[in-house]
Amino acid sequence: MYQRIKALKTLFFSVVTFAFVYFLVVQSQVFWLKQIAIIDPLLIVLLVVVTVFASYFNRSRLAYLSLLWLLYYGSITFSPPWSNWLAKQNDWLTIFGCFTLLLFSLTKDRGVVSIHGVYRLFSIFLAGVVALFWLEISGSVIIFVEGFANAELLKETIRLELPLLVCSVVIVVRAMIKADLVTSAICISLLFWLCNQYQLTPLPISLMLTLLSLYYVLVITIDAYFLAYRDDLTGLPSRRALNQFALSLGRKYTVAMLDIDHFKKFNDTYGHDIGDQVLKLVAKKIGCVKGGGKAFRYGGEEFTIVFPRKNIDQALSELEAVREAIEKYKIVIRHPQRKTKQARNVKKGNKQSDFKTVSVTISIGAAVRENKQSFEQALKCSDQALYKAKKKGRNNVSY
Ligand code: GH3
Ligand code: MG
Ligand code: MG
Repeated sequence: MYQRIKALKTLFFSVVTFAFVYFLVVQSQVFWLKQIAIIDPLLIVLLVVVTVFASYFNRSRLAYLSLLWLLYYGSITFSPPWSNWLAKQNDWLTIFGCFTLLLFSLTKDRGVVSIHGVYRLFSIFLAGVVALFWLEISGSVIIFVEGFANAELLKETIRLELPLLVCSVVIVVRAMIKADLVTSAICISLLFWLCNQYQLTPLPISLMLTLLSLYYVLVITIDAYFLAYRDDLTGLPSRRALNQFALSLGRKYTVAMLDIDHFKKFNDTYGHDIGDQVLKLVAKKIGCVKGGGKAFRYGGEEFTIVFPRKNIDQALSELEAVREAIEKYKIVIRHPQRKTKQARNVKKGNKQSDFKTVSVTISIGAAVRENKQSFEQALKCSDQALYKAKKKGRNNVSY
């Protein structure tokens, strides 16, 4: 559920951001059209740069897309030998574009210059062949459909609009379930492609492609930021983010260290995979801390919460609330065996056994920053308080 909301948020903000910038450019198009003589040649450079940039950050789908846009733009601008042929293949080109975007939305980012790159190129080639094949057989499909009454509209749209609709639905649904900026960028690329092929935009293609390329750069940059500052397992900001955050703190703040109790034993009993699931769910609860607290994964099963501008009393009540929420949390976890087909068959009709309820507790140590203390020193004090909490019998907040 959380993943779905995150995915919808990602898609929503991607579309709104792009639509907003597009709207601004349309409103100021007189200005931009005057610059078109500069934009046109610069676009080639921009697309090459985005291809290299995307490859460098292992965003292979955006790298291939930029390369394909470059080929397309080159074909319609420089009239290479195949441009006449291409101009006559508009339907094929439209479907091929959508099939390629569908392919990218269904696959993961893999290395560009590797065996995966060869597979990807072959898949793109195959998408072109399938598009051609569809156009060839669509005549027979139309004849078949004619056999049914009231199929007039279907008959007219079967050749071109039907494959476009199927691709669009799959691409949008994928973006709605995958909280991934690249999948959302593919969705926006589809929007661009359909607007371009159906001439639904007043902007020239070079301007649209410039917008799209800059959008790719934004996606790659945000992705790289999250890679560096977010913890992969829990989604919380990482220790590096904590160090960065510490630089922005004023003179008054409270810092707390949180540690899951007997987690080694938990792992030994239930296995590392379930341990990971629990760590993720506990992290989500810790991330919901109120009172202006900001949560980080410090490392392993240890977390840090910083309360800027708060004294220890203000922080303690919020920390107590977090501790209590985790103590009461009946964590429903999926049994790892569920993943195997055999286990699923054995357990058919017995859905209950796929799930398990477990619970954990946490100990918390808090410390307010004393006069002239550095962040590291304040953190050390909270670590000592955590040690005290463990000694007191765990599942409590000490300071
Ligand atoms: P205590 O109550 O004293 O904190 O006991 P503990 O067992 O939690 O403490 P200890 O520091 O000895 O063990 C921490 C364990 O947390 C070790 C490791 O198995 C587990 N752990 C650390 N990081 C991860 C992780 O990313 N995933 C999983 N599943 N386990 C982790
Ligand atoms: Mg520990
Ligand atoms: Mg522990």
